Amino acid sequence: MREPLLFGEAPRARELPFLPLVAGPTPVEPLRAELGGTPLRAGLWQKRDDRASPLYGGNKVRRYEWVLADALDRGARTIVTAGGYASTQVTATILHATAQGLDVDAVLFDQPITSFAREALSTDAAAGGNLIDGRGYARTAWLVAKRMRAATRPYLLLPGASSPLPNLGYVDAMLELGEQVARGECPRPDRIVLPTGSGGTVVGLALGAALLGWSTVITAVRITEPYVTNRISLGALLFATRRRLDTLGVRGSKRLANARVEVDGRFLGEGYGFPTRETAAGMTLTAALIGQPGEPTYSGKGLAALAAWAEARPSEEILYWHTLSSTGRDAGATQRAAPVRLGPELRRVFAREPVA
Ligand SMILES: *Cc1c(COP(=O)(O)O)cnc(C)c1O
Repeated sequence: MREPLLFGEAPRARELPFLPLVAGPTPVEPLRAELGGTPLRAGLWQKRDDRASPLYGGNKVRRYEWVLADALDRGARTIVTAGGYASTQVTATILHATAQGLDVDAVLFDQPITSFAREALSTDAAAGGNLIDGRGYARTAWLVAKRMRAATRPYLLLPGASSPLPNLGYVDAMLELGEQVARGECPRPDRIVLPTGSGGTVVGLALGAALLGWSTVITAVRITEPYVTNRISLGALLFATRRRLDTLGVRGSKRLANARVEVDGRFLGEGYGFPTRETAAGMTLTAALIGQPGEPTYSGKGLAALAAWAEARPSEEILYWHTLSSTGRDAGATQRAAPVRLGPELRRVFAREPVA
């Protein structure tokens, strides 16, 4: 059974409940692909967290090793969560929590309808999630509060599921990369690029890099509105997660002050979930790299940004950290009618023409 490398850095982390969901280190590989017929340059790498779990990979699994363990430890029976129709966090919650015998109530808010949104909704419904149509953000928040009162032994997972406890998952992931670099599987990256919403992934990686004594810059490609993802919100999350590491007895905690996150806001376009001029290329890159259809919300923007950074910084070793799952997906679902298990309210998503 995998034991977190974090236990070696922060001894009191051993006292926390932990649920191993990631089988072992995810591969780190050269990133080789073409963009518009031209090969991307050498010196690019990819960390395959798309394969973090055969059940459903992507960047939520490592957080759930801590947060679902906490929910089970507290005797929770129902996870109450929220996200957009195409939310990977909702899908990851439903697949991983139901596998632990928990019920999931997910309130879904409106976002542009894409093929991936249909795929996600089909997967969510087939896996037995209790899906509730939230429509706007305010109504979604109200319905979440309502579910928290009505559900049996509820446990709240906010959209994105980034708080200091789950963020430990990506501190640990960075230590994993540290071992891979030490083994010579790839060079120490100058920069790590990945799409960023609630910020837990970049914050964990930045703190992990600081623990390793690396000066690697973590480039957070903004995929949500600036009021959600910005230097102040990420700074606050970084600080809170650092405090958490301190309470866990992290060695040499002064090192953590060197954590570096930079926000790249150029690829958001109209907003969360909206395709842009660059996302078509980013989606093609996703498919080439992970072997599953891309989507415009996360990897479409993240990989478009990677291509831009590769060109702008020709001498840097740049690593793209995959956040989208390549496992547990039902990509064929987009071709079919609305799944029977979807309530009438959400079925209308399948009546609209996808925008990407
Ligand atoms: C959740 C998610 C993100 C954003 O990660 P945060 O830690 O919330 O910033 C990026 N890509 C994918 C595919 C995700 O599911």
